[in-house]
Amino acid sequence: MSDLIITPVPAFKDNYIWLLTRGNEAAVVDPGDAEPVIRALEQQKLRLKAILATHHHADHVGGLVALKQRYSATAYGPARESVAQLDHRLAAGDRIEVLGARFDVIDIPGHTAGHIAFYAAALKPPALFCGDTLFACGCGRLFEGTPEQMLASLDALAELPAATRVYCGHEYTVANIRFALEVEPNNRELQTRAAMATAMRKRGEPTLPSTIGLELETNPFMRCDIPAVRAAASAIQPGAGFARVSTFAAIRSWKDGFR
Ligand SMILES: [Zn+2]
Repeated sequence: MSDLIITPVPAFKDNYIWLLTRGNEAAVVDPGDAEPVIRALEQQKLRLKAILATHHHADHVGGLVALKQRYSATAYGPARESVAQLDHRLAAGDRIEVLGARFDVIDIPGHTAGHIAFYAAALKPPALFCGDTLFACGCGRLFEGTPEQMLASLDALAELPAATRVYCGHEYTVANIRFALEVEPNNRELQTRAAMATAMRKRGEPTLPSTIGLELETNPFMRCDIPAVRAAASAIQPGAGFARVSTFAAIRSWKDGFR
């Protein structure tokens, strides 16, 4: 069997729709817009077999119905959210097979209440599609969840192998790193990452995928145990750094107002 290849299809201002191909068959993750997907499928003469959705936001599912009807693809998405025309509604513990690869479903609420991730452990390296929950050097806004929920979701993702490729829904990396450097100005890995990400964007390249290992070293939202991150939380909100969840909450609300 040929390899599974994963490439980004840019959409809107900064979304990535992930295109998975094996031979002449394809699947997409979070097709917010049908148009760029149809163009990519036609250019590469691919047959769309499956559509995966991580959460209900329009910039992730806006193209789902049009693609499903045009290609009679099977649509998979979150059990606990309202997404039109899903064939399979999934939650933690469910397992699907797409283009010959097995994906485990992980519940990662916080950004939305029923947000799910798709994790392919058997791919080399393993692959994680996590929508708007874990970003490169950041995390999604808490539209429908609590800091406790989001922190638990990020903790679950932190358990995955360090080599896991992280395919997020947006190209937010450079702005996220700018904020992360406010939290941890002395983090050497973060400084290196800042230079690399800026250079990649200058060349017009995506900064994704990331890896779980790199996020653990540089993403402040994955580092609520680290003394420097806790100290930064306390500096913004006195006492916040005393506990993990209040550290997370303080940094998340700091980021909400950060420009
Ligand atoms: Zn979203």
